[in-house]
Amino acid sequence: MSSKKIKTAILGATGSVGQKFIELLSDHPWFEIHELAASERSADKKYSQAVNWVMQSPLQKEAAEKIVLNCASTLESKIVFSALDASVAGKIEEDFARAGYLVISNARNHRFDDDVPLIVPEVNADHLELVKLQKFGEGAIVTNPNCSAIGLSMALKPLHDNFGIDAVNVVTMQAISGGGYPGVPSMDILDNVIPFIGGEEEKMEKEPLKILGMQKGNKIEFAQLKISAQCNRVSVIDGHTECVQVNLKRKAAKEEIIKAWIEFIAEPQKLNLPFAPMNPIIYLDGDKHPQPRMHRNLGGGMSVAIGRLRHCSLFDYKFVLLSHNTVRGAAGGTILIAELMKAKGYLDKYL
Ligand code: NAP
Repeated sequence: MSSKKIKTAILGATGSVGQKFIELLSDHPWFEIHELAASERSADKKYSQAVNWVMQSPLQKEAAEKIVLNCASTLESKIVFSALDASVAGKIEEDFARAGYLVISNARNHRFDDDVPLIVPEVNADHLELVKLQKFGEGAIVTNPNCSAIGLSMALKPLHDNFGIDAVNVVTMQAISGGGYPGVPSMDILDNVIPFIGGEEEKMEKEPLKILGMQKGNKIEFAQLKISAQCNRVSVIDGHTECVQVNLKRKAAKEEIIKAWIEFIAEPQKLNLPFAPMNPIIYLDGDKHPQPRMHRNLGGGMSVAIGRLRHCSLFDYKFVLLSHNTVRGAAGGTILIAELMKAKGYLDKYL
């Protein structure tokens, strides 16, 4: 592997998001996986022995042979992707930041710290400026949002910018992989829908407000709109589907809304970042679209598929969106944040 690539480490490398990081980074043009870390249960074992590999592509020899390390801030890689369980992520990530590492995290723990950006690269790249205000010395923490909140924020961004949004109602149908591995027991989820995912509705109602907000002084002023969410776990492996109703501040024709979605591009596309999909939002005309099995891998799993835009008898419009929860919603979205930070010079001090 080229020594010119940037060395990175993955914390929580044995979990389902950690595995997706390994799969997605295996051939990345800028980053290489230098170190893998997980809990004491896995540490000191070969990665192939510590992990229950559930990705569709085979585990590559280079990762398989690595010895899993403890999540201690003595790693050689200064850029650290965190896929840690939220029960332990908070302190471990802070320790790394204080020790001079850049942590880009999937865990919820620091998402609402005033000085920690919560980034969807196409929506709020400017919020990265917050890292300059952090109190971790040389290190920093940047967070990737909740997987369902990412898809929703991307769909709302062009509407928020062009027409303004008053209120949103969203009902999700979320994939099993969103709960990590092994996740919900098969006897609970097969032939079933579970109308509760702990903490998920709160994240869906709050995170888009920070993501769509504006930096004012040393924090983000939240966007002024109301979101009501109901979250369900369904028997789908990957891909979260969301049925959304929206009230706009300015009336808009259906064609104007679709135009705003399909013309939406942002800094990742302009900078031609490796993980940036050419079309962050893809509008599908078919009456029965989007569907997880057919459309979750559009744009390499980084595009949000939207369809069924129509008038609503309660709100102005309703539509359906789909986004890949472990690619755009976790590892892929986090890698795109790292690419954006590299392109904008935020990684220079760690190299
Ligand atoms: P997971 O499959 O349960 O994996 C958790 C990882 O954390 C494992 O590598 C585990 O290592 C490690 N870990 C647990 N306790 C630890 C400790 N005391 N010290 C060090 N490492 C420890 O979870 P996941 O689904 O990959 O999710 C990881 C994070 O991403 C979570 O915060 C989750 O909320 C977030 N997230 C997940 C998704 C998704 O679609 N799954 C989407 C967005 C965000 P061992 O194997 O050694 O126990």
